[in-house]
Amino acid sequence: MQLVFREDAYAKSCPATVTAVDERGIRLDRTVFYPLGGGQLGDTGRLRLADGSTIAIADTLKGPAIDEVIHVMAPGAAAPPVGAAVTAEIDWERRHRLMRMHSCLHLLCAVITGDVTGGQVSDGKGRLDFNLPEARLDKDHIEAELNRLIAEDHPVRPRWVSDEELTAHPELVRTMSVKPPMGLGRVRLLEIDGVDLQPCGGTHITRTGEIGPVEVVKIESKGKQNRRVNLALRNP
Ligand SMILES: [Zn+2]
Repeated sequence: MQLVFREDAYAKSCPATVTAVDERGIRLDRTVFYPLGGGQLGDTGRLRLADGSTIAIADTLKGPAIDEVIHVMAPGAAAPPVGAAVTAEIDWERRHRLMRMHSCLHLLCAVITGDVTGGQVSDGKGRLDFNLPEARLDKDHIEAELNRLIAEDHPVRPRWVSDEELTAHPELVRTMSVKPPMGLGRVRLLEIDGVDLQPCGGTHITRTGEIGPVEVVKIESKGKQNRRVNLALRNP
């Protein structure tokens, strides 16, 4: 399966052929749909058939095989026949909000020093958990730093390195809490120019200015060691 979003996060649709259908969902030979993973929600959208009818896609998940993507049909949707030619179309406005928040959470990794223990990119909001036993996080300071990095409009780009390069230069990566998928020969990093570099397979905007202003909604204690920082887009 060809993952179009991996090379072009801005692709809103692509022509594709249905290769398999089962109770979990629909497989295509290529797709723009990002499957749930790396803390980012799966895409929603539709498959458009040659006669103009559409099949609503309610979620996208990873399958058991490498690079396998399962398009989960909305309840009641009729499955297409194997071999059908379709146009796969994502809900672009929603995906763009997910991309803006995902890139913003990478900025947050640069603002707060501490191991990331979890996180989630949702529609218009997102959060990261940091392992910070005694730290007192200053909500206003974090928000000001994030909005400064956004306004500075840093370029954002994927960068592939070999497994060997990453092993030999662990300093390439600031946040190792998200385990890079080693063993495939190369690892995809996400670089925010001069700000952050870490393994990431998610979809991102191309300049930080595209995120727009953000707000630190609240900072919660989740257990002794964990501080959860919740963000929201000001202009979703
Ligand atoms: Zn990421």
